Amino acid sequence: MDTSIFERRESSVRSYCRKYPAVFSAAKGSYLVDEDGRRYVDFLCGAGAVNYGHNPPRLKERLIGHLAGDGLVQALDLHTVEKRRFLERFEAEVLAPRGLPHRVQFTGPTGANAVEAALKIARKATGRTTIAAFTGGYHGMSLGALAATGNAMKRRGAGVPLGDVVRLPYDGYFGPGIDTAALAREMILDPASGVDAPAAFLVEPIQGEGGVNVASGSWLRAIAALAREVGALLIVDDIQSGCGRSGRFFGFDGLDVAPDVICLSKSLSGYGLPMSVVLVAPEFDGWKPGEHNGTFRGSTPAFVTAAAALDYWADAAFLARVAANAATLDARLPAIVAALPPGACHARGRGLLRGLAFEGPDDAEAVSREAFACGLVVETCGGHGEVVKLMPQIDAEAAVLEEGLDILARAVRKAPAASGHLRAA
Ligand SMILES: *Cc1c(COP(=O)(O)O)cnc(C)c1O
Repeated sequence: MDTSIFERRESSVRSYCRKYPAVFSAAKGSYLVDEDGRRYVDFLCGAGAVNYGHNPPRLKERLIGHLAGDGLVQALDLHTVEKRRFLERFEAEVLAPRGLPHRVQFTGPTGANAVEAALKIARKATGRTTIAAFTGGYHGMSLGALAATGNAMKRRGAGVPLGDVVRLPYDGYFGPGIDTAALAREMILDPASGVDAPAAFLVEPIQGEGGVNVASGSWLRAIAALAREVGALLIVDDIQSGCGRSGRFFGFDGLDVAPDVICLSKSLSGYGLPMSVVLVAPEFDGWKPGEHNGTFRGSTPAFVTAAAALDYWADAAFLARVAANAATLDARLPAIVAALPPGACHARGRGLLRGLAFEGPDDAEAVSREAFACGLVVETCGGHGEVVKLMPQIDAEAAVLEEGLDILARAVRKAPAASGHLRAA
């Protein structure tokens, strides 16, 4: 395995590749293959950018057809038949069935750019500057999004003061006994608290990077009600929790919340092609033409696969498989946890976004390392890297999901730190 060029020439900022020392050469469904022909089950899924697996055949066929027919690849924000098709399908499958009147703003292709646009929308609509963001939040690396991100190491990377954000405790931050939405309301309504009404509340329904923290429906509804009460917008950052990761299309589906603004990216194209949108309630779509511009807002191949991916959501077999996979995780994770001493590990998450939170400081990292050595790519997250984050292909074949979980179960039992914990118990 020759990695010398990476060490010699690639920036020290590279990170995932340090944890998974292989040179990958192919990917299909839930499997990654390295150049030596070794196969890995993929529970990382491009950090949620390939929720439907790698190179899904139905999408690949359309993409190849588009390229073979000399379809536009770069179109700025020109009208194209592919963008029309995507918008029609998105309206029919996503917006109309939920009664969402939202408009679709195509932003630059990263999630961070969608978040930047959302923050501008809220500031423009309210004339306020402060964004209320939450502990554990992750919103991207550009300065506005970074200011709203919790992680101190990443914020320090900015090199300039990051302001105009007030930090509020996420659901459950102080444990189950403390209602952090009620606390936020009390502070914001108290004219002497120093916490003014923000332009927006920026919230993830499930925090992926922050440690697989799940917001309850009642908490999200309370934050939505608070936003309405104080004249702020509710922005849902559904970049990681959306596009099926929660088991439904949106991470907030079924929770009875109606966000003013929704950010989608990662798996929106369905194929790992960069694409982001902001869904904005029409009354807040106050942009002047070109006011939030971007060269790569019209990546037509991504529109082709994104439109094709929406077909999944009308396919009963797909929906049944996603539900069955979530049920498999419900059934198997408690058993994996139970193999360790009480308190050593807790299962978290919802749908197809799950976490194993470890007490021992190095346990999650050790499990991830051991899993990789046994053929499973799985990431860690959380403020202290204490959570093993499971993001399998949402419609993975049952046998592949079981294969990945079998490796995970063995890694949890075998990882040195975890067995150190066993000895201590
Ligand atoms: C990944 C992510 C982002 C940033 O997306 P990039 O494409 O990496 O800029 C923002 N918010 C959430 C919740 C994410 O998971």
